[in-house]
Amino acid sequence: MREIGFIGLGIMGYPMAQNLIKAGYNLAVYNRTLSKAESLAKEGARVMDSPMAVAQNAEVVITIVTDTPDVEQVLFGETGLFKGAKAGLIVVDMSTISPSATRDFSARLSVKNIQLLDAPVSGGDIGAQKGTLTIMVGGEENTFKKCLPLFEVMGSRVTHVGPNGSGQMVKLCNQILCAVNMIAVCESLSLAKKSGLDLEKMLKVVTAGAGGSWALSNLGPKIISGDLEPAFMVKLIQKDLRLVLEAAKNNSLPIPGTALANQLFEALEAGGNGELGTQAMIKVFENLGNFRIL
Ligand code: NAP
Repeated sequence: MREIGFIGLGIMGYPMAQNLIKAGYNLAVYNRTLSKAESLAKEGARVMDSPMAVAQNAEVVITIVTDTPDVEQVLFGETGLFKGAKAGLIVVDMSTISPSATRDFSARLSVKNIQLLDAPVSGGDIGAQKGTLTIMVGGEENTFKKCLPLFEVMGSRVTHVGPNGSGQMVKLCNQILCAVNMIAVCESLSLAKKSGLDLEKMLKVVTAGAGGSWALSNLGPKIISGDLEPAFMVKLIQKDLRLVLEAAKNNSLPIPGTALANQLFEALEAGGNGELGTQAMIKVFENLGNFRIL
């Protein structure tokens, strides 16, 4: 399969599409804000004016947009992919969205004999740029096998985890780890600061110990240098935590750690900081503890 459609050229989608072009795939791309697609045209992508147009000659269409209603719009909207798609098309949705909506989308696509894989990712903008994402895939195993070469361009750990919706559910479990871990990173750095430690030395030591984590290694240095620019926006993790809390509720499962993280991010959003990176949670701790990290 060489003819690939790609929809959504944001922080994640743009470098993922770039890596597919570098690997020799022919890409037809669509981005709602057309200007963001223009620089990719210089690298060889064909820029289309709708998801419908992207689907017309593609064997596989990858989508990575924001939320559940956005995926629905891209698939089934006025100029959506469904209208342009031929039987046999494979749609790979790499956005983080609702597992139950994913199953519904799969059923609606199957009317035209279109297969869906839900394949959300973890690893941040750095993983997207380096092609080292973790990719968790739900859907038919045969369809997964057909798409594996594509996944291997974008990711380094690619796992088929079960039927449609399972990829999204694994991603929600992952988001619990990311959100609750962010609390630990911020609390730990807050104590280091208030007790007068050298933050760089503290970070260097604890990153190598049993308390180390992706967030500590990648976001810890940003926090202590005051870099709160988004790799993953607060408003996006809040979208994910709403899905996590809903899934927990549906399974009668209390998840107090995630609920706390959700409330701390809520404090950031209330202060107008929803478009900062998730590491901006440090601002909440600065206010609680009456200190500044810098
Ligand atoms: P982003 O930079 O905000 O990009 C979102 C993309 O979706 C943009 O291209 C946007 O188009 C497009 N879009 C949104 N709504 C749309 C709609 N209704 N119709 C058509 N296009 C639409 O976000 P991102 O960080 O790349 O995240 C994308 C997805 O990956 C999200 O589901 C996120 O949860 C997930 N994710 C993100 C990270 C991360 O670290 N950033 C990590 C793992 C997973 P415009 O350019 O017109 O706005």
